Amino acid sequence: MERRKLVIVGSGPAAYTAALYAARANLFPLVFEGFFSGPAGGQLMTTTEVENYPGFPEGISGPELMEKMRKQAERFGTTILTEDVVSVDLKGYPFAINGSPTNIQADSLIIATGATARRLDVPGCRDGEFWQKGVTACAVCDGAAPIFRNKDLYVFGGGDTAVEEAVFLTKYGKKVYLVHRRDEFRASKIMAERALKHPKIEVVWNHVLDRVEGDQVVASVTLKDVKSGQTTKREAGGVFFAIGHEPNTKFLQGQVATEPNGYIKVRPGTSLTSVPGVFAAGDVQDPVYRQAVTAAGSGCMASLDAERWLSEREHHAQ
Ligand SMILES: Cc1cc2nc3c(=O)[nH]c(=O)nc-3n(C[C@H](O)[C@H](O)[C@H](O)COP(=O)(O)OP(=O)(O)OC[C@H]3O[C@@H](n4cnc5c(N)ncnc54)[C@H](O)[C@@H]3O)c2cc1C
Repeated sequence: MERRKLVIVGSGPAAYTAALYAARANLFPLVFEGFFSGPAGGQLMTTTEVENYPGFPEGISGPELMEKMRKQAERFGTTILTEDVVSVDLKGYPFAINGSPTNIQADSLIIATGATARRLDVPGCRDGEFWQKGVTACAVCDGAAPIFRNKDLYVFGGGDTAVEEAVFLTKYGKKVYLVHRRDEFRASKIMAERALKHPKIEVVWNHVLDRVEGDQVVASVTLKDVKSGQTTKREAGGVFFAIGHEPNTKFLQGQVATEPNGYIKVRPGTSLTSVPGVFAAGDVQDPVYRQAVTAAGSGCMASLDAERWLSEREHHAQ
């Protein structure tokens, strides 16, 4: 079976940046970029313009940015397999990485499999409907887009992120409606107060999203009262889901320690996981920042950490 110094699982900004650094450090990295597990290239493959990635003053499309990162990693000798990793064995050494169908032994491993934003599965919000045409799961990424300016914007969720996103959107929208299915927030008290006191935020308690309608972009939402079952259609320019993310860690089968929220636990300020020789980068270990540039930065950290770990190991073996 082939043995590699470094295997990287994932394919967003974290994975490709880790591969770029590792290839330049002559670690000959092999990347499993995924196939069924999500779009190869990561979350930015599902978006249009990225306007906050430094170096592109006019903005760049998500897929084009990822293609450039991929090419840059390949230029220095990264091998890329368009396959999923279905399981790993991190108890033995070298680690066993089981792809579908390629199996590899690895001296070190970087996990950069990202996270998947939860979406509400209601009419109008699906792919090919108004998803990315006014319906999104990232206010910080998309909120500044012209289609949302001076419109009524709807945020769905009840935790800290939902409140944060609603407050953020007040910079752009005419009014922001924060819709929650219960009659109190899960958000911390201080965050909840921020929403309740904000002059541009109105909280809509005990309601859920029933459907989204529009023409080219979102034009209305229909909300359903969970108590009475009554529905109301309201004018809307944007729908923002803030109902959490799911870190993509199933293939690890619990072999790497995670936080209670499911994100991979790393030693603060590093990419080191609970397993020596295994590193984590990007959204899979970051419930807070979740941006392309922070994912890329942590991919760089993981590569440097892996390189150091491998050279220390070689040094001790001599
Ligand atoms: C709609 C949308 C718009 C966004 N817009 C912006 C923006 O404008 N600016 C910004 O900075 N950020 C934006 N973000 C956030 C940004 O996309 C993420 O923070 C970033 O992509 C995280 O990168 P990552 O490297 O951690 O991995 P991800 O981009 O999450 O990619 C990980 C990939 O790894 C692969 N993978 C998963 N499991 C496996 C497996 N078992 N085996 C092999 N491969 C696997 C999948 O292909 C997965 O897609 C947006 C997000 C979304 C959803």
